Amino acid sequence: MSSFVQCAPISRVVVFGGTHGNEMSGVTLAKHWLKDPSEIQRPTFTAESCIANPLAVEKCVRYLDQDLNRSFSHEVLSCPGSEGDPYEIRRAQEINRQYRPFDFAFDLHNTTSNMGATLLRCSKDDLFSLHLANYLQSSSGDQSMPCYNFLIDIPEKDNAYLQNITKHALCLELGPQPQGVNRSDMLFRMRELINQALDFINLFNEGKEFPSFETDIYRFVSRVDFPRDSAGEISAVIHPELQDKDYIPLKPGDPIFKTLSGKDVLYEGEKILYPTFINEAAYYEKKVAFILTEKVNWKVPALKVEQ
Ligand SMILES: [Zn+2]
Repeated sequence: MSSFVQCAPISRVVVFGGTHGNEMSGVTLAKHWLKDPSEIQRPTFTAESCIANPLAVEKCVRYLDQDLNRSFSHEVLSCPGSEGDPYEIRRAQEINRQYRPFDFAFDLHNTTSNMGATLLRCSKDDLFSLHLANYLQSSSGDQSMPCYNFLIDIPEKDNAYLQNITKHALCLELGPQPQGVNRSDMLFRMRELINQALDFINLFNEGKEFPSFETDIYRFVSRVDFPRDSAGEISAVIHPELQDKDYIPLKPGDPIFKTLSGKDVLYEGEKILYPTFINEAAYYEKKVAFILTEKVNWKVPALKVEQ
């Protein structure tokens, strides 16, 4: 007898696009599904889409006052809010009020990094979303855009991501795609992944049992900033041998930056790690050139719906 993790059925699903207003695949799909939500319905649940940051979408910028996807902190969500608060704080409170009762949230993003389809989560405990990710990884689709599991293991009290508000959630990062640009390959891959994910939720609700499996998880280790001069200005660029090599093992001694005088800056870590978000445009302001992860193998127990 194998033991099962049991989860309550999923009855309401929300698909967020435009959490960052210049990430066009999610913006375009969320707008499309607002006009005609029939594609995202399944027999066992209802679904709706939402433009998370409408003013940023209108201006085609990441945000107005602050990053919406870092605005869902306990502190923000537990206070009533006032007119003078930054736009994204007010928006986070509105989204929380409206969607907290939902069972599952998708949050659709694009990255300028070559990260394929990255399924990003902030909690290691959401086994339902790990099963969903496994289903996406084993469903046929565009093989040029493989799915990776990315975990930023944040203590619940410090989690300020949009996926914080619902019981189950998954953030999808698809790239590379420039900010403010719609690439058809990204748009249709995102649409395919969301449809497959909705199929999974429907199968789960119908009582299908999902066996245990092993999976690779890329777990956050550290952020790496660009080299800087004494004035704090960036003094080197991502090395050509690192550019676009997201999820490719980075070995001690590998080049990571090139200075304007042509000198290579080498990775001085002690063990092999896996770089992601390499040269992500939105991370320049966060002083992040790339993120290092470690690859860990997990055994995920079987899943079925709670009777
Ligand atoms: Zn984003």
